[in-house]
Amino acid sequence: MAGLYLHIPFCRTRCIYCDFHSGVDMSIQERYIDALCHELDLRVNELQGTPITTIYIGGGTPSQLSIERLQRLFNHIAQYVQLNRSQEITIECNPDDLSPQYIEGLRSLPINRISMGIQSFDDNDLRFLRRRHSAQGAIDAVRRCQEAGYDNISIDLIYGLPGQTLDMWQYNIDRALSLGVQHLSAYALIYEEGTALMQLREQGRVQECNEELSLAMYTMLIERLEAAGYRQYEISNFALAHHEARHNSSYWDDTPYLGLGAAAHSYDGSSRRYNPADTQTYIDAIENGKCCYDEERLTPTDRYHDMLLTRLRTRRGINIAQCKAQFDSSLIDYMYSMAAPHIICGNMELSDGYLHITRQGLFISDSIISDLFVATD
Ligand code: SF4
Repeated sequence: MAGLYLHIPFCRTRCIYCDFHSGVDMSIQERYIDALCHELDLRVNELQGTPITTIYIGGGTPSQLSIERLQRLFNHIAQYVQLNRSQEITIECNPDDLSPQYIEGLRSLPINRISMGIQSFDDNDLRFLRRRHSAQGAIDAVRRCQEAGYDNISIDLIYGLPGQTLDMWQYNIDRALSLGVQHLSAYALIYEEGTALMQLREQGRVQECNEELSLAMYTMLIERLEAAGYRQYEISNFALAHHEARHNSSYWDDTPYLGLGAAAHSYDGSSRRYNPADTQTYIDAIENGKCCYDEERLTPTDRYHDMLLTRLRTRRGINIAQCKAQFDSSLIDYMYSMAAPHIICGNMELSDGYLHITRQGLFISDSIISDLFVATD
């Protein structure tokens, strides 16, 4: 089992908070699609014949590609992957790209899951974040996808926006629930280095949401979604039964994946490969028939840290038997000794062969995970 990720680094406009790699120059799209196809030819052997079971087209804004370009991409992928056997094929879309014609085009492709970056159902928030869509536009886009037959839709929301109150956040959650989507991801607003949002904060023009309010919003999110039948299967992800994101779950589950495109990452169980976060550099290299990734060989300690960072984000947690098969017993003993105080105070639990962070511990999950890290000089 393996995943295939394709990064589409194009956005019509840039959102205020975003530090993902993307640009607004659409004139290089054709060359970029050629490069993606060629990179797949060059690198498909890295998966050593492991069948690709999930495909994720992310960005950037993949819905800025025409249906014809997406079709060309899928025609090429089909040379290597039996698309009808792929269990989950996701595309990230901006709501205002999802016209009836575009959705009809998507339906003609093997895509069976739509992930929509809605972020808020408040037009003031959307304007502040410099999103292109309106709240009503997002609602209409979800409805159109549902009417067209999509029954696996995910939406993203952001909480902790400057000036957002608990009531405003509740409105967002309830609006999301009223849409009946199968999956929801919600993230606290992060002030990333180099973003316009960070600049505003440095200039004192926006104030960060305080920790107490952010925790209250997160608690409300968990409680309302669970009451509505969504299971929190990861720190920021909630799904109705059988609708967990399989592609993303593979990141948390040590499944190998091949990431193609500018800024894409790959993982094969023993190393990580990083493509350059520069679209022109990426295209130039691939056009010259060269892969252009940096490679990091993972030491046992790196792999142990990766396991903590990924699996402790999930509610299921660390499979102890798997962990024992993978790591030296001294590392397992270390993990137990560092987890013990958290187990005693109820932040972690060891049950049914899994070590996981409890609901109480979720609020301090970053510090719990870092406590279990091996200290380095
Ligand atoms: S649309 Fe997505 S990738 Fe593009 S700037 Fe906005 S948040 Fe970033």
